[in-house]
Amino acid sequence: MVNTAVILAAGLGSRIRERTGKLPKGFLAMNEMTMIERSLSILIEEGFTNIYIGTGYKKEVYEKLTENYSQITCVYNPNYESTGSLFTLFQFKDIIKEDFLLLESDLIYEKAAVKIIKASERPDVILASRLTDTGDEVYIETDKNHFLVTMSKKQEKLNRIDAELVGITKLSFQTYKKLCAYAEKLFPAGLGLDYEDGLVGIAERIDFYVDKQDDLVWCEVDNEQHWTRAMSTVYPMILARENAPVPIKRSILLNPGPAATTDSVKYAQVVPDICPREKEFGQVMEFIATELTKFVGNPKDYTTVLFGGSGTAAVESVLSSVIDQETVLIINNGAYGKRMVQIAEVYRLHFLEYKSEPDEAINLDDLETYIQNASDKIRFLSVVHSETTTGLLNNIEAIGQLCKKYRILMIVDAMSSYAAVPIRMKEMNICYLAASSNKNLQGMAGVSFVIADIEQLEKLRAIKPRNLYLHLYDQYHHFKSTKQMRFTPPVQTLYALKQAIIETQWEGIQNRYSRYTRSWETLIQGLTHLGLNYLVHKNNHSRLITSVVEPSDPNYDFTKMHDFFYSKGFTIYPGKLDDKKTFRVANMGAITYKDMEQFVYLLEQYLKGLKGGESNFKS
Ligand SMILES: *Cc1c(COP(=O)(O)O)cnc(C)c1O
Repeated sequence: MVNTAVILAAGLGSRIRERTGKLPKGFLAMNEMTMIERSLSILIEEGFTNIYIGTGYKKEVYEKLTENYSQITCVYNPNYESTGSLFTLFQFKDIIKEDFLLLESDLIYEKAAVKIIKASERPDVILASRLTDTGDEVYIETDKNHFLVTMSKKQEKLNRIDAELVGITKLSFQTYKKLCAYAEKLFPAGLGLDYEDGLVGIAERIDFYVDKQDDLVWCEVDNEQHWTRAMSTVYPMILARENAPVPIKRSILLNPGPAATTDSVKYAQVVPDICPREKEFGQVMEFIATELTKFVGNPKDYTTVLFGGSGTAAVESVLSSVIDQETVLIINNGAYGKRMVQIAEVYRLHFLEYKSEPDEAINLDDLETYIQNASDKIRFLSVVHSETTTGLLNNIEAIGQLCKKYRILMIVDAMSSYAAVPIRMKEMNICYLAASSNKNLQGMAGVSFVIADIEQLEKLRAIKPRNLYLHLYDQYHHFKSTKQMRFTPPVQTLYALKQAIIETQWEGIQNRYSRYTRSWETLIQGLTHLGLNYLVHKNNHSRLITSVVEPSDPNYDFTKMHDFFYSKGFTIYPGKLDDKKTFRVANMGAITYKDMEQFVYLLEQYLKGLKGGESNFKS
């Protein structure tokens, strides 16, 4: 087992000098601890007894660490200003006689990173992750066996990008000797090279296994932007994961929300009791409201109004609060469009209903003609983005353009698309958007919210209220002036939502949608393989939930199939269309394509069991 580590810490850190002042980057303080101290404490906890630090710039501050840590030895690269990290690593050539872990000094990473690489049986391992899109990343290309082909900061130097370098690498002593021999030949011309260049230089002769960990939380700190992201997203994320006490039994929820959540979100609810009227809690809600806005628009132009309630509360709040005597056109092509019609009926709004097939894209020409010929002047249009009934994704961008043309304000129920399908309020011409905490945000059920165009929202003051609790303007105005909800908020659910937001920021909405898409493709391939059909065409599909046509086998029974899956930890959902026999499989939430592979496998087993005439399939 490797118990020696080398930390490369000679660099000038010139791109973040304003923050670091006279100290090297590793001494940036994260709450109570500096980056280097956190790294040291992880290494020591993982049994590293020899920790070498390759120093250069401000070597004395690293040397001072040896007073508190007997494990540390500092090795100085006197030419640090003009040389790269390969030369710093070369300084150890007569010192190191064993395998070691090589780390960069400006990393913030979770303990798991070291555990994983330490536990690997392979002699030379490069820890890698999915792409973080943070700028300044080192891209990796591997061969089919996951061995290093090349890596570079320049994308054009790679044939293909397979992963991103983390900066934690295990090197065997044999490999280090080869690296030093290789480096020596390059000097002095190659003095400016980095250790990555050295590894690439010998990659043809050495099998560097690239261990790509999709789920790893980490970041590098090179500049001010990196630091802001580290402190707002990455480090809170790491702490939440590391503080989660014991893993909770996983349920694979394939129902369309509440979706599966991570343990760190579940545990975020376990907090000291607090009166929600305290300023501290107001700040939690303010964070939530601002960050929810930022996922879809600029907080200067848009704002988020929070309610305690399920998603329908937000839809009902908008429809009952923003329409006065004007006419709203409601597009109904599924159960959630129909729900908006029901709300309009209850509040006796002036509304027109535009019906469209539940499994086909809305005919935009027809819709435009309808708007042109409508008996009333249409002032609002209300549409569901992702129709959770079928999996149909309505083209709100195109509908938004129509609205712009006819000066109509668009209301979007984005309940099952928000935080998965990228949405831009301004570009899509959305005036009000309704969503909730428990679908793609991967939070707990109980918070519902409206994201609104502030300019329009301000105008609502003049409208006579139709209700109290769901009154959008009052809720907005009260929150704006007090940072409080008017009535008791779901305290613990909001703490979970805060964590869920951080996790959404960490993953990124585009990446989340890619993850979902991969699960969806796994499902679709499986269905096709099993000879099952699904309703909505690929081109109009949300890739979030799929309505599967029920098998024609006479032994088939949804409830029995549901119970079979439930006993295996999977929850599926019945269909919601009157005239078509379907069941539904969602791929939202904290699940991956691997869960979907498992689901497809079980579905195959189940269907085989039916064919054998075992109507009472043994679970
Ligand atoms: C889930 C969902 C809702 C809200 O349902 P609740 O049960 O009230 O949370 C509304 N619209 C759509 C499109 C949905 O998917």
